Amino acid sequence: MPVGRFAPSPTGPLHLGNLRTAALAWCAARSSGGGFLVRMEDLTTGAAAEQEDAQLADLAALGLHHDGPVVRQSDRTDRYDLAITTLSRLGLTYECFCSRREVREAAVAPHGDPSGPEGAYPGTCRNLTPAERDDRRARGRVPALRLRAGSRRVVVADRRCGELDVTVDDVVIRRADGVAAYHLAVVVDDASQGVTQVVRGDDLWPSTPVHVLLQELLGLPTPGYLHVPLVLGPDGARLAKRHGAVTLADRAEAGESPERVLGALAATLGWAVPGESLDAGGLLDRYDPDRLPAEPSVWRP
Ligand code: GLU
Repeated sequence: MPVGRFAPSPTGPLHLGNLRTAALAWCAARSSGGGFLVRMEDLTTGAAAEQEDAQLADLAALGLHHDGPVVRQSDRTDRYDLAITTLSRLGLTYECFCSRREVREAAVAPHGDPSGPEGAYPGTCRNLTPAERDDRRARGRVPALRLRAGSRRVVVADRRCGELDVTVDDVVIRRADGVAAYHLAVVVDDASQGVTQVVRGDDLWPSTPVHVLLQELLGLPTPGYLHVPLVLGPDGARLAKRHGAVTLADRAEAGESPERVLGALAATLGWAVPGESLDAGGLLDRYDPDRLPAEPSVWRP
């Protein structure tokens, strides 16, 4: 059975862009008779019950009902540790003592690694000797763990964005504070939850080759991908609180029903006329992944 998911970070109320992505992920799953899961990506924030409840209430108000219990990344750190151990045993990780600033500076230096992707980790810690590592530790440095990607090329396909054929960087898979990185966690979670279709904002499309490489290295299946356009504010920046009434609660205050909001979101996709009201079933009837706009939408309140 197809399984889709929506994976918000519980950092605040979902805005209309998040809600549109959620609606599309839900439509993709339900249009193929599939399951739809919600996962809270709270690794960096820690569980945030209030935010989480508010986000779930918004999804429910729009009729985007999910199956089964909500999974929290903060409850699953042992799974991430296991995957990290697997990669380490395969010799596919190394400790990195660089600060962000050092990475930035080394990446632009003329001797920066020319084989890596642009802006890639320059490889400073890739081949440290045990003595060099001990020395950094003795100076109080705490290492992050990086993937030894070995300049592997990965080809990934997306229903809307086409194909990417790129060299994967030595990304951080465990931060210096011990928290698993998003790239690692998302791959472990999607596989262990049986997710077969990933629908998410196309800001994450450039990260997908990292995910596909991690799936390959960990022996996990690769889901189908559909990266959907973002919703921007009138200033061209990604939609945010400062753009005004951009949450369901804001719209309710202005007298708009959830159906009216869903209709407005459908209108940004060209799937409804402005002012139309639509419930989740109505949106599902119009769902067509091949008719998603090529460009981001601009929300004009
Ligand atoms: N947690 C990410 C976000 O809120 C989404 C990650 C994903 O869908 O893979 O943007």
